[in-house]
Formats: sequence, structure tokens, C-alpha cells
Amino acid sequence: MTTTWTRAAVAVVAALAAAATAVVPLLAVEAQAQAQAHDTATAAPVLLRSAGASTLAWRATAPARIVIGRSRLGRDIVAVRRGSPTAGKVLLVLGQMHGSEPAGRAVAAKVAVLAPPAGLQVWIVSTMNPDGSVARRRTNARGVDLNRNFPYGWVRAVRSIYYPGPFRGSEPETRAMAVFLERLRPDLVVSLHQAFNSVDVSSAKTHVWAVRLATALKLRQVAVPCGTGPCHGTMTSWYNSTYVGAAITVELPRAVRPSWATYDARAILSVGALLVPPITTPTPTPTPTPTTTATASPSATASSVAS
Ligand SMILES: [Zn+2]
Repeated sequence: MTTTWTRAAVAVVAALAAAATAVVPLLAVEAQAQAQAHDTATAAPVLLRSAGASTLAWRATAPARIVIGRSRLGRDIVAVRRGSPTAGKVLLVLGQMHGSEPAGRAVAAKVAVLAPPAGLQVWIVSTMNPDGSVARRRTNARGVDLNRNFPYGWVRAVRSIYYPGPFRGSEPETRAMAVFLERLRPDLVVSLHQAFNSVDVSSAKTHVWAVRLATALKLRQVAVPCGTGPCHGTMTSWYNSTYVGAAITVELPRAVRPSWATYDARAILSVGALLVPPITTPTPTPTPTPTTTATASPSATASSVAS
């Protein structure tokens, strides 16, 4: 069963873009203040969107394979789920945003065939840029860098490999992904890129998860200077400024061999497993000790005999 959201994507992201204009600066300030105040992975800025009843209801009825939208040239953008739709925690792995970066798709393919950790549903989008993937180029078919096209912090710029598009959320691939994220509201989003061999750990809100991913994937921990430009209109900055969950950009090495892809997939799932609270075993209620000796047990009798 598949579902297409092309019309819904346009409507919802138009609303998202309009709302982002007015609300996001406030959300960003709040998020930063709260993250600095608590500086833990679980600190939830109160104004950020969380997974409420409607999100849980959507997850529970979502098919395990969804066409979340179509590219500018009409190719399907597909999301698949592993694990139970009622699992309480959600990990989303995006294999590819830039068509010239294939390693993440190999890792995502391995994630899709591994058993998800207990209590975790794992969603995989192999690529949100199928046109760029076919052409093996960074941008989509219109020449837009999708990781500069999201509604948060979008800035106008001239054409280059970082062209942000004519306006925020202008591309169908961006809208498809934004609407999917709005529906799913994952606890952790891992966005795979190449080839800087590192994880950005500069965000206070997502620091714990970034460090966990860098450690598990054996990648360098770096601080990306977002203030000087590279973070304009990125998917992760939009997600982190809008939702409670954490979105992390992971820069894989230039080459990822098949054995490395399997290692990376297991590493990502091991970090995802940390989303699930440990099962606590209730303390057993002590059985009252009999106060009479009328029904002494055989062992008690034997013990008495031995002494
Ligand atoms: Zn990239």
C-alpha cells in the first residue's frame, strides 16, 4: 500500500513556511535558552512541537512503505518502516540529500535490512533527491541545493552548487520531506552526507546525540561555524528549531566499503536504541513470613535435622 501526499505537501508546507516566518525566531531563542539552561539530551524546549496524540495515531496507522512525494522530474520519494508502528520511539535515517553523495544510501540500505532495536521504529528514506542521484550531482533537477531550501534561516543567493532556490521550500523534494517530518516527528533524525568524515557537535540542543553518533561511527567531532553561512536553510536546523527531537548531520568519509556500511548501520541503530528507556522491573512484594510453625517446609525440617 502506498500513499501520495503531493497536494497535502503543498498545503501543509505553505502553512509551515508562513508560520516559520513569524514564529521561528522566537522558537530559536527559546530553544537556545532552554538548551543552555539544561544542556541535556532530554531537555525539551516547551514551545517546540512534540509527538502528541495525533502523531501517535498517524504512526499507528501508517503503512510500512509510503511515497512521501515526488521529485521535480516525477520520481517517487519513498519512506519505509522497520519495527512496530506502535513502538514508542522513532529514528529516521535519511540516506541521501545530495545526489553526488552515495555512501549514505549504502548505509541506509543496510539499516533497512537489520532488525530494529526493541521499542524503536526505524524509518528509512534512501534518497530525498532521486533526480540528483541519477545525475550524480549535488542539487536537484532545478539546480537547487535542497539543504539550503528549508524554511528556517533561508537566505536568497545567486546560482551556485549551494543555490537555495527562488524562495523557502520552493522544491517538491523539500516539501515532501518537511511534510513527512511534520507527520512523523521522529525523536532522532540522522541525515547522512559526505565526505567530511565528521559530525557537527556545536548545537547545545543536540550535542549529546551528536557525540554519541560520532563515537559510534568513529567520526571526528567538529564545530561547524553556522554563523558564517553553511547552515542557512538546512533540514537539520529547521527540524531542530521546530521540533523537540534531535536532527544530526553526519558526514561520512569519501569512500564507504560494504563492510563499513554494515558497521555504520549497526552503529546508527545502537545509538537509536538509546532512545528507548530501559525496562524497569518492579520490585517484588515480600511474601509475609508465617508466624506459626504448624506447616514447616521440608527444607526447613531438613535444616533443623542437620543442625
Ligand atoms: Zn551533503
